[in-house]
Amino acid sequence: MMPDLEIARFESWKRSVVAALLCVSVAVAMAPGASEQSVPEPFHWPAGQRGAVTLSYDDAIVAHFESVALQLERAGLRATFYIQIDNPGFRLHTDVWRKVARAGHELGNHSLFHPCRKDRPGEHTWLSDDYNLSHYTPDRWLGEMRIANLVLQLIDGQTERTFGNTCCNNHVGPIDRRTSLEELVPKLFVGARGEYVSRPIDPTKANFAALGHYSGDSKSFEQLRGEIEAAVREGKWAFYMFHGVGEGTHSLYIDAEEHRRLVEYLSANKDRIWTAPAVEVLRHLKTSAGQPR
Ligand SMILES: [Zn+2]
Repeated sequence: MMPDLEIARFESWKRSVVAALLCVSVAVAMAPGASEQSVPEPFHWPAGQRGAVTLSYDDAIVAHFESVALQLERAGLRATFYIQIDNPGFRLHTDVWRKVARAGHELGNHSLFHPCRKDRPGEHTWLSDDYNLSHYTPDRWLGEMRIANLVLQLIDGQTERTFGNTCCNNHVGPIDRRTSLEELVPKLFVGARGEYVSRPIDPTKANFAALGHYSGDSKSFEQLRGEIEAAVREGKWAFYMFHGVGEGTHSLYIDAEEHRRLVEYLSANKDRIWTAPAVEVLRHLKTSAGQPR
């Protein structure tokens, strides 16, 4: 019989597979866009750097604190870990996550229960109907996220953080009367990951409440370097979503060697590329021209 933790990890992997598949379908189905906020010109990245990268890792799995956070720290890099509070990878290891936060990583909010939209029959059968985002009201979403923020604050002491959307869903409520998370996010967060668009973010036009992102799962280092260099050439911000690192850590993962090469490359190019948690990049964007907003 599998130990409870192993069963819980397995269940978490299954959920993430479905979530990632939905991410892809949502990215294809939804048109890019949304309102954009302007950042005061002229804009400069810190310390003469030419572009920015955020590495975010979803779901609070054990590999994140056992190896990924430490690997990044040795390279002088920090990331955003999007924490699902109810995941045993978080619930059973809160003391270790406190150390991760103390090391300078962001503990981002990935909800209490990982709710996702179940608009079509058979969609997300792994997820209880109790957590169908289509049945959520804006107040319920806000209430659950407020509690998740409180739990994370008790761990890291921080009052500002970002939200990492679950299943890349960006709306709550029935499909004909849905509410965009862009309306809700500013009530609780500095900003949030938005659509999976595989495009970099223009820092002068960033939509803080719905930051377009890339997936890094299954990619090679060469692919990632190509995307990042293209973003940096334009002075933009490449925001990545990852799950596991290395086979066996998560059903969605980047190969450990490819990830090692990515970390090495980002570390070696710190003079050009600013790798930082999402909350730090957003703080810089807010005050980039000395004009807090
Ligand atoms: Zn997730």
